Amino acid sequence: MNLNLLTTRWERLPESVVLELQTLKLRHYLRTVVLPFSPHYRELFARHGLRAESIRTLEDLEQIPFTCKNDLVNTPDNPQKMRDFLIVPDKETLARRPGTILKALVSGREKVRRGFEAEFRPVFLTSTTGRSSDPIPFLFTRHDLANLCSAGERTMQVCGAQTDFRLLNMFPYAPHLAFWMVHYAATAFGVFCLGSGGGKVLGTEGNLRLIQKIKPDVIIGMPTFLYHVLQQAVESGQRCETLRRLVLGGEKAAEGIRRKLRNLAAKLGSPRVDVVSTYGFTEAKMAWAECPHQPDEVSGGYHLYPDLGLFEVINPKTGVVVPPGNPGELVFTPLDARGSVVLRYRTGDYIDGGMLYGPCPHCGRTLPRLVGRISRSSEIKSMQLDKIKGTLVDFNQLEHVLDDAPNIGAWQLELRKHNDDPLEVDELTLHVHKVNDVDKEKLCRELNNRFLERTEIRPNKIVFHDAEEMRRLQGVGTELKEQKIIDHRPKPKKAEPVVAGLAVGSEQTSILTTPELAARPTS
Ligand SMILES: [Zn+2]
Repeated sequence: MNLNLLTTRWERLPESVVLELQTLKLRHYLRTVVLPFSPHYRELFARHGLRAESIRTLEDLEQIPFTCKNDLVNTPDNPQKMRDFLIVPDKETLARRPGTILKALVSGREKVRRGFEAEFRPVFLTSTTGRSSDPIPFLFTRHDLANLCSAGERTMQVCGAQTDFRLLNMFPYAPHLAFWMVHYAATAFGVFCLGSGGGKVLGTEGNLRLIQKIKPDVIIGMPTFLYHVLQQAVESGQRCETLRRLVLGGEKAAEGIRRKLRNLAAKLGSPRVDVVSTYGFTEAKMAWAECPHQPDEVSGGYHLYPDLGLFEVINPKTGVVVPPGNPGELVFTPLDARGSVVLRYRTGDYIDGGMLYGPCPHCGRTLPRLVGRISRSSEIKSMQLDKIKGTLVDFNQLEHVLDDAPNIGAWQLELRKHNDDPLEVDELTLHVHKVNDVDKEKLCRELNNRFLERTEIRPNKIVFHDAEEMRRLQGVGTELKEQKIIDHRPKPKKAEPVVAGLAVGSEQTSILTTPELAARPTS
């Protein structure tokens, strides 16, 4: 079968064809790029007696060991770990290839040399945000930038963009994937796009001025920051009647925050706004989007590009791949990357609807889709609530509980030690901005009940703030990313091993807690 179909018909291929072509492409990629030129994978494959030819079907992929976040972190004896994951071509190997010889004869040696430069020389990077460890850089060559453009252009199509739209990119200006993905996507699609740099560069005020000036059709950014900007726009009596889409990324977007954003857009004079979400991560060097759908309809999921990479969904405990439509941890393998390359990368992200291949119920595209809610394992923190037993609290779950709660706007969860004494128990404070005309006591009862219903714990304290104070607490305009969950406890010496081993997915245990906890008094 023609391998090009995977690219030319990326949105119209049935499952069997996708799987067959992805296997072919992966084998070719391993044989010609990864195994000859990646120090890490050459050694890993040799150690496990594997060759490119060992991959006859996608099931054979399971023979390749996973690559985890920890494998990429620098250690004292390897202070530049990411170098091992870089594709570094060997001139002689390239020169001996029949394709190279033929090209040199037809177009000349100089053209061949320039082609290899474009394919292999790193020219750009984005890095992880590195909140828990050093940021990890991922290098792009011009070949990768072309793929980023192609992925970006398709994201625009999936989101239903039109070339006469005006886009305002409010992702933070930083060497992070989100800002640059939007930049390259808009350039490739051929649409006007202005990057404000987010809150830290222009402040909320600066972003509000840009909304006035540009009258955007689409605003793209992190949900928490967009919420603050639109809320302040409403407070200051601003209008923005041109909005058609809000595109969210960089953090997850619960149904509640989407509803709040739609309400704010309506107050600004744009009552029919589609809110669509994207998912991406540094290690994949790209992101994927949902297509627009009605507020009361279930999302079609993140639409994947079958020629640029493939996902597996695994049981996080056993590492075994689960059947389509089943929940589990997302594992990513690129199919055409140069620069920094990781194979079978365990994202630590859990998808509750798994992967589907059938036509999307909304746009009709036939391609692999990731459906359901995505949670990050790094957002599970342990809490020492009774000084004896540690408790795992899934902040993903709490985030949904709070985002979906009516009568509150912005919120922040703060963890600290009782009386700031490191030997004392942990305390959870909920900071909220009350938005509707409801009684504070009634709202406290409501919030406590929501917590207990969904998580079996409740905050020790609920503190009310006005919108301005909430902006300050969350670091709008001062932090690269607004803080919804803040841990003011003294830092533990080492990451808690219990977090890494937590089972999520089909047997999801979002809270492991003690019964006494629910009985703790709330002030
Ligand atoms: Zn769709």
